[in-house]
Amino acid sequence: MALPRHGRNPDDLLAELAAMQADDVRWRDGRTFGLVYDGGPTVHAVAEAAAAQYLHENALTTIAVPSLARIQREVVDAMADLLHGDRAAGFMTSGGTESIMVAVLGARERCRAERGVERGELLLADSAHAAFHKAAHVLGLDPVVVPVGPDGRADVAATAAAVTERTVLVVASAPGYPHGVIDPVPELAAVAAAAGANCHVDACMGGFVLPFLELDGEEVRPWDLRVPGVTSISLDVHKLGYAPKGASVVLWRDKARRRWQTFSFDDWLGGFYASPNLQGSRSGAPMAAAWAVVQHLGVDGYVALTRRTIDTTRRMIAAVRAVDGLDVIGEPDAHLFAIRTAPGWEDRMDVFAVGDAMAARGWYHDRLHRPDALHLTVSAGNAPVVDAWVDDLAEAAATVLGTRAADRATPYATLE
Ligand SMILES: *Cc1c(COP(=O)(O)O)cnc(C)c1O
Repeated sequence: MALPRHGRNPDDLLAELAAMQADDVRWRDGRTFGLVYDGGPTVHAVAEAAAAQYLHENALTTIAVPSLARIQREVVDAMADLLHGDRAAGFMTSGGTESIMVAVLGARERCRAERGVERGELLLADSAHAAFHKAAHVLGLDPVVVPVGPDGRADVAATAAAVTERTVLVVASAPGYPHGVIDPVPELAAVAAAAGANCHVDACMGGFVLPFLELDGEEVRPWDLRVPGVTSISLDVHKLGYAPKGASVVLWRDKARRRWQTFSFDDWLGGFYASPNLQGSRSGAPMAAAWAVVQHLGVDGYVALTRRTIDTTRRMIAAVRAVDGLDVIGEPDAHLFAIRTAPGWEDRMDVFAVGDAMAARGWYHDRLHRPDALHLTVSAGNAPVVDAWVDDLAEAAATVLGTRAADRATPYATLE
């Protein structure tokens, strides 16, 4: 469609946008498990107002916009405090992928400078997020993939055995996306430290859940900056931080490690160029919205949302295990889990057929493979409809018994 010759009326445009959204997933009714995490009406209100206030601002230079420097500092410092990093330093980024990208860059640059590693290796479990493979692709590193152990967690012995003199980064997830389990972070960080490599903990999902679960009195496997050898952590404010998209934090153990992710260039007619992450011009809107949501919720708000999320997740997991022919993969540690066909039911129960039957009832689940599974990221917005989900799941499973879905695709993200 070509650009209209004559500009169009704003009311018509907004009406057209609203009509276009008719087929988009309806996360507001709580029937979507992923993509958008709904913190409730006051969270929306404060995020929308703050984003509108900063919609036009640019964080490219905080000399011109010092308020965005403060916003970034206050979000990062709050996370450093929560994750027990007394000397921690970091930046806001546009999302988990960018946080991971700059953490990988920082590992590559440090190991090139300090250990002379020209082409580094990224050591990771096959559960680690695809963003690490994207980072390796973009940054010219070789991924070395180690299969997870039978419990779905990264296999420490196999990881240690895969270390070479080119290893620049060992990845741990807290929890990993596919099966929602926390890797053995202390052991993986020790492997990294012994190799002189960085250890990145991907807490894109868990960063706004695990600290509050612990504050609410539950035991949580060690994963944060209290673990020696952890050099960087990513946590997404735009996931269970309940801020709108475009906000994540990359946190380093200290400024000395952080400096390897930044870029500066002094030989340009445009002046001295310094950049913390991958963006140039950088919208203030997601930064301000994230700041406002984090400040609005505070510790109490996050503990309450986490409680609701985890209670909902446990209820759902128990319900899956009660359905003949279905099972949950492993022992999920937080708010992510996957539903598979129960062992022995392979020729009668197809979990993708269950997913399609749930979709027909208005529920949106993602799919995994190896094994085929339905994937759920639970958040507080799902709590009000959990009873309906439990009923529909049992009914859907009974209905599709003996059938098989023709479409076996497992899209996580798409091109066009
Ligand atoms: C979502 C996610 C990422 C990637 O984050 P984006 O914000 O989608 O770029 C990385 N790791 C884990 C565990 C995730 O869940």
